[in-house]
Amino acid sequence: MIKFLDLRKVTDLHGAEIEEAVMRTVKSGWYLLGEETNAFEREYAAYIGTRHAVGCANGLDALTLILRAYMEMGLMHTGDEIIVPSNTYIASILAISRNGLVPVLAEPDPTTCQISSDEIEKNITPKTKGVMIVHLYGRCAYTDRIGEICASNNLKLIEDNAQAHGCIFHGKRTGSLGDAAGHSFYPGKNLGALGDGGAVTTDDTTLADTIRALANYGSQKKYIFKYKGINSRLDEIQAAVLRAKLPHLDDDNFRRKEIARKYMEGITNPAIKIPEIKDWDSNVFHVFPVFTDHRDQLQNYLSEHDIQTLIHYPIPPHRQECYKEWSAKSFPISERLHATELSLPISPCLTSEEADTVISTLNRWGWN
Ligand SMILES: *Cc1c(COP(=O)(O)O)cnc(C)c1O
Repeated sequence: MIKFLDLRKVTDLHGAEIEEAVMRTVKSGWYLLGEETNAFEREYAAYIGTRHAVGCANGLDALTLILRAYMEMGLMHTGDEIIVPSNTYIASILAISRNGLVPVLAEPDPTTCQISSDEIEKNITPKTKGVMIVHLYGRCAYTDRIGEICASNNLKLIEDNAQAHGCIFHGKRTGSLGDAAGHSFYPGKNLGALGDGGAVTTDDTTLADTIRALANYGSQKKYIFKYKGINSRLDEIQAAVLRAKLPHLDDDNFRRKEIARKYMEGITNPAIKIPEIKDWDSNVFHVFPVFTDHRDQLQNYLSEHDIQTLIHYPIPPHRQECYKEWSAKSFPISERLHATELSLPISPCLTSEEADTVISTLNRWGWN
């Protein structure tokens, strides 16, 4: 059985260092808001290339806290609009609505699956206060054009970097390209903890301080509460695990790239479309998506051949029950991507033999 992602093997890859980190923390007697978290925040900020990194409980909280902080800073208000791609994981959108802000969905470019700058521009209204781009599948969604649109319309540019740790755009890491970025360390991400974890990166000191307070019950000073905050902390054990894994992230991403190249060169079945990949240098291949009109048949076929795949994602956000207010809306590009996408196994632990098996199995597929 070739698993989509074998987390046991991913952990074993750096097992000794992770064990040392966990036991060091267990024995320290200090489990929250301590040296491991401080050190990880410093190391992660240095890696991403921002002045600040603030740890928090998960990626959804990271994105939520950014917007909440902008509201507390008086830069956004209830009912203001944030433009977000129509083809993203639901968490990007939940972070907006959770704050009483209005998500405005914008279609992606079908060739890159990333939010289209033209669609961003079309959706700007007097109420628009920000744009959340999502580096979906591990590829950079930022373009200079998007930067210009945000600057000239005075919009905050927020990056959802949950899927793209390590991705580089013209020498700068994603997570340092906009005003603030939310990161997730969910175990399956390129930089994953052994549980939940998240962080915000930013150069904006006021924003970082506000987020730090909001995530700590709204307090900057013990027992003094400035905001109606929440409790959202990265715990010490997860911070220690992330510190053990961070130095290997670029190598692990390079291995993903090798697998991606094999797939790209090896898959020749004309019924399976792989969008042209122009961003080999920056792409960190969180997901390797292929597209076919007979997606469910292909997934079943692979499953019969002991190859596990996932769909990112089966139902578009505007078709989800939680956003039934959008049920009459139509986002044809997003709908088509959701109906045809299939994600092949990819991870730093997938062997070349396993990748070859995936390729030859795909090339033998005749859908009818
Ligand atoms: C995983 C993910 C999130 C949420 O991260 P959690 O840590 O699971 O809350 C947000 N956005 C995207 C694009 C993701 O893939």
